[in-house]
Amino acid sequence: MRGLPRELPPTAGLPLRLADLRPGRANLAAILAGQLQTPPLQLTCSGTAALLLALRVLHARQPRRSVVVVPAYTCPLVAIAVHQAGLQLRLCDLRPGHFDMDPQALATACREDTLAVLPTHLAGRVADVDTAVAVAARSGAFVIEDAAQALGARSDGASVGLRGDVGFFSLAAGKGLSIFEGGLLLSRDASLRESLRDAGERLVPRRPAWEARRSAELLGLAALYRPRGLVFAYGRPLRRAMRRGDPVDAVGDAFPATLPLHRVGRWRQAVGANAAARLPGFLAMLRRQAQARVEWLRAIAGVEVFDDAPGTQGTWPCLLLQLPDERCRDQVLAQLWTRGLGVSRLFIHALPDYAYLADRVPPAYVPNARAFAQRTLTIGNSPWLDDATFERIASVIERAAS
Ligand SMILES: *Cc1c(COP(=O)(O)O)cnc(C)c1O
Repeated sequence: MRGLPRELPPTAGLPLRLADLRPGRANLAAILAGQLQTPPLQLTCSGTAALLLALRVLHARQPRRSVVVVPAYTCPLVAIAVHQAGLQLRLCDLRPGHFDMDPQALATACREDTLAVLPTHLAGRVADVDTAVAVAARSGAFVIEDAAQALGARSDGASVGLRGDVGFFSLAAGKGLSIFEGGLLLSRDASLRESLRDAGERLVPRRPAWEARRSAELLGLAALYRPRGLVFAYGRPLRRAMRRGDPVDAVGDAFPATLPLHRVGRWRQAVGANAAARLPGFLAMLRRQAQARVEWLRAIAGVEVFDDAPGTQGTWPCLLLQLPDERCRDQVLAQLWTRGLGVSRLFIHALPDYAYLADRVPPAYVPNARAFAQRTLTIGNSPWLDDATFERIASVIERAAS
């Protein structure tokens, strides 16, 4: 078997098994709510759709507020959802060298027109939601926790997504547990949960053609989400995009202008439920692997590895690293990015720097978000990355940082 090309994923998703594909009548949201010990969860067709529903519901409660404050470094889909909800984006710079929104910048961004702010749990790390809640409360804004990358993460023992007014997870390909595209809404507030359910009933049609497409895509994911298959599904398109000089396409940051809204069918729910039984064990294994590797990387001078903040237990789809400067980061990527080892970048740009989003993202002076985009990289934490290969990656980083 040696010598066949292999490609490791940039983030660790739970691999599907053939037996997961058997049909059933499982209620995926109920199973995950039991597992995560949350109030009832609401299944949506994507994380973005979950955010869109949340924005619709909150806007109905505060119709005179129409601005949504988001970190200037986050998933472009967040900007697309805000636009699709008919609301305006206001970017908040990060605090220096961190993915959290800067509290001072957040206080300036939250005004009488502000509907919601979105603290974001990036790369499985738990964000500082309490500060966002305190700042938002002063202006009367809601808090939506973007936990798209953090299904299973906990803060003081409870699932993330419950400290704000609303939270959402993503079940997209490569994000922990996947049904190819899916999302989950959660809230500790029963009346908001009811409004969200109502909005789902009213606004989300069935659209069997979309469900058929997603079902086929899920079969493709089940077949190809392994080192041999990822060569075709991920590695080759990545290298093609890089040869074109298009890193935005290479990491999958280029999204369509609107996202579909439809209901998730029974079969995809069953697949997710079958796989979900393995999720706690999988997350625990990733945690053990990550902890040893965080220690290893931490010994390299000049490299900062994002770890759990006190009282939090994040998930570990990847290790998020910050290097001393862009030159050093790019030197590492030049050696590793296209080598099939799962080394990548989270999002390529701060939101104002995506050309294709120029009509939806206001210009903003966000130097810390730009520096974060320039200095960070990720190492996929999939179980397929063995210790010897990890150590090779670490030694490339060590040479570049020294
Ligand atoms: C992926 C992602 C989303 C959107 O989730 P989808 O399920 O892909 O629609 C939102 N926010 C962040 C931070 C993400 O990484």
